[in-house]
Amino acid sequence: MNCPKFQLSFQLLCVLFASLTAAAQAPTAKEVDSVYPDAHALYLDLHQNPELSGHETKTAEKLAARLRSAGYDVTEHVGGTGVVAILKNGAGPTIMLRTELDALPVEEKTGLPYASKVHAKDDSGRDLPVMHACGHDLHMAAILGTAEIMARSKNTWHGTLMLIGQPAEETISGADEMVKDGLFTRFPKPDVAVALHVGNELPAGMASITPGIYNTNADSLRITIYGKGGHGSMPQATIDPIVIAARTILSLQTIVSREVKPGEMGVVTVGYVHAGLKNNIIPDQAEMGITVRTYKQDVRKQILAAITRIAKAEAAAGGATREPLVERYEGTDAVYNDPALAERLRAPLEAALGKKNVITEGPITPSEDFSYFIAQGVPGFYFSLGGADPGKYAEAKASGTRLPSNHSPLFAPDVDPALHAGIAAEVAVLRNLLNASAEELHKMTGERTNH
Ligand SMILES: [Zn+2]
Ligand SMILES: [Zn+2]
Repeated sequence: MNCPKFQLSFQLLCVLFASLTAAAQAPTAKEVDSVYPDAHALYLDLHQNPELSGHETKTAEKLAARLRSAGYDVTEHVGGTGVVAILKNGAGPTIMLRTELDALPVEEKTGLPYASKVHAKDDSGRDLPVMHACGHDLHMAAILGTAEIMARSKNTWHGTLMLIGQPAEETISGADEMVKDGLFTRFPKPDVAVALHVGNELPAGMASITPGIYNTNADSLRITIYGKGGHGSMPQATIDPIVIAARTILSLQTIVSREVKPGEMGVVTVGYVHAGLKNNIIPDQAEMGITVRTYKQDVRKQILAAITRIAKAEAAAGGATREPLVERYEGTDAVYNDPALAERLRAPLEAALGKKNVITEGPITPSEDFSYFIAQGVPGFYFSLGGADPGKYAEAKASGTRLPSNHSPLFAPDVDPALHAGIAAEVAVLRNLLNASAEELHKMTGERTNH
């Protein structure tokens, strides 16, 4: 809401009205409690039956069936296993809310009675343990609760609600696949896209907002270094790719420390090195996998160029006769939170969770493919939801330790408060946006640029 600045008393009234409106848009505890058993049951089921990225067949079926029975018009198999659920409610904007469907190849060690014991085959046929170690099960449970409340309270909003279940977020490919499969052409193109992520960085019951850049650009690289194999006792007859790889790894660590401007965010991590099979054989090639994280596009370009330069120069220094192959095989842009949207949606979040439970935080370092939706010209609002047991969170803070992060085998959100808060937050945000007109939202988010 725009409050004119000319008259103090009028301005106060205006602010008061905005907060009263937000309060009216937050769901009551009774509304959340009424859908909680369904949401919680889905959570337990999904947590015990996780599926790997791109293989979320049963997960998608379960979510689709429940959304259908909540009254939504559901389409399955959008961009693989993706689910699109639409609820039309008269004239108004189209607002999209997204959950991910996939779990991770992690062996759960939480010891919870509902811990996952699932093993599954990945694309290459390897048998892997599977766990919802990123909390996507909680996101799906929240979206179900939210879907039911929104369907039962159509007098509180108008427009089109579009809920999507996105596959393969962990491999940063599912959002792109859904877009390519007509997410914004076969279905209404949203005026705003919303998503949340649960984590242990905040206690359950809280949420944080990050206006502007929310997380990092991510780039995955593979470098293959070509040497010349031979007998381990006769290095003079070989070009050792392991030595070249070792030097390359160390040189790569000077990019952020020596080339990037101090204070700019940049991470270069070599996550694996594969070379050789036996102690007395010098292999003929070495391969390494790298992840690069940045906030800014110019820093991203600088680092990627430096990696290629260093890899080539180290290979040349080691006498390699063939240039190394540097491949960027996947990547995603940072998620950009429209600042005006972030500001607008603070009031409904505060109304849903309590004023002191909504804080502002700086960007985080993990990455997300939600940016693919934003890149289509849809302004986005992506916020963080507290998942930590408040007692354990306070203990960890006092002792200077950290609770297990997302992707840890020990990651376990405090489900009851986190899921209650997730549903309340989503409903409040959706009702707020679905009480605006599309024109008002467009005007507010201004020009839609790629960041
Ligand atoms: Zn994750
Ligand atoms: Zn995640």
